[in-house]
Amino acid sequence: MTHDVISLSRRRLLQGGSAMMAAGLAGAPAFAKAPMLGTQAPYFYRFKLGNAEATIVSDGPLPLGDPHKNFLGLTPAEMDKQLTDNFLPLDNALLEQNALVVNTGDRLVLFDTGLGSLSIFGKTTGKLMASLKQAGIDGKDIDAVVMSHAHIDHCGGCMADDGTRHFPNAQYYITQADYDFWTDEKKVGPDLKVFWETAVKNLTPNKDRMVFIKDGQEFLPGIQAILAPGHTVGHTIFMISSAGKQLCYIGDLTHHPVLLMEKPLTEFAYDTDPKASAQTRVKMLNMLAGNRIPILAYHFAWPGIGHVAKQGDGFRYYPEPMNMVL
Ligand SMILES: [Zn+2]
Repeated sequence: MTHDVISLSRRRLLQGGSAMMAAGLAGAPAFAKAPMLGTQAPYFYRFKLGNAEATIVSDGPLPLGDPHKNFLGLTPAEMDKQLTDNFLPLDNALLEQNALVVNTGDRLVLFDTGLGSLSIFGKTTGKLMASLKQAGIDGKDIDAVVMSHAHIDHCGGCMADDGTRHFPNAQYYITQADYDFWTDEKKVGPDLKVFWETAVKNLTPNKDRMVFIKDGQEFLPGIQAILAPGHTVGHTIFMISSAGKQLCYIGDLTHHPVLLMEKPLTEFAYDTDPKASAQTRVKMLNMLAGNRIPILAYHFAWPGIGHVAKQGDGFRYYPEPMNMVL
């Protein structure tokens, strides 16, 4: 009642008053206020997938830097138009790191592990263990760590800096091609030395727990490997099925929801074989679009689930609305 009266009198003042009076109102003391909190929501998102429970857990945002240096083949004008049309900044491609935990009822499966303690992209990464904790998931309960490939932002969180395992009861699943490539200093080369160091730190201590997965294999119940090479020699995506529902964990099939989608033959600077990567991307996105299969994209905007559809010469990503009711 009091507020109605006050707002009515304010409105009268505004309607009949001068600009000076309005300015005076804006400066009037508030009826209530609070300090700014500077805190954010927990960094996990949970949903049902058939009979399974899926939880996306973040390792934190990964600011990649200047898109013109990381995405190759578009002219600067073409790239700027794509970014501007999608209300994205021109100076920094901000990737997310959307790892996934699937609880099948019988086992807990983690897909990819983030950057661990590496800080080469700044201080916003390395959140995986904290995100798991927020989500109520204990590293000791993880039965399987499945890796799409052996890059630093996917295998970097297997081991703690003191040499202990973050997931002490897990077996580790990756292709032998990726394991052999990224743990071999000569194959990796000096430019990507940190990639070799990270693979050696995180994969080599687990060699006796390593299960090498093969194209087409259902290596865990309801989880099938689909080889998608190019980004790395053994890069693999995963079709997860439960009670008639499907989700495709696409790893690094595409790093950007616009730049590698509108013109999907655009190349990515960190691809081992950019041409093969682009061909794989088109083939797999065609399959996912044609079958309307939902995807989880590791590097898309949080939480990275949605669909792809064909559009023009390429594809468009449709993020799925978050559903906060389980
Ligand atoms: Zn990645």
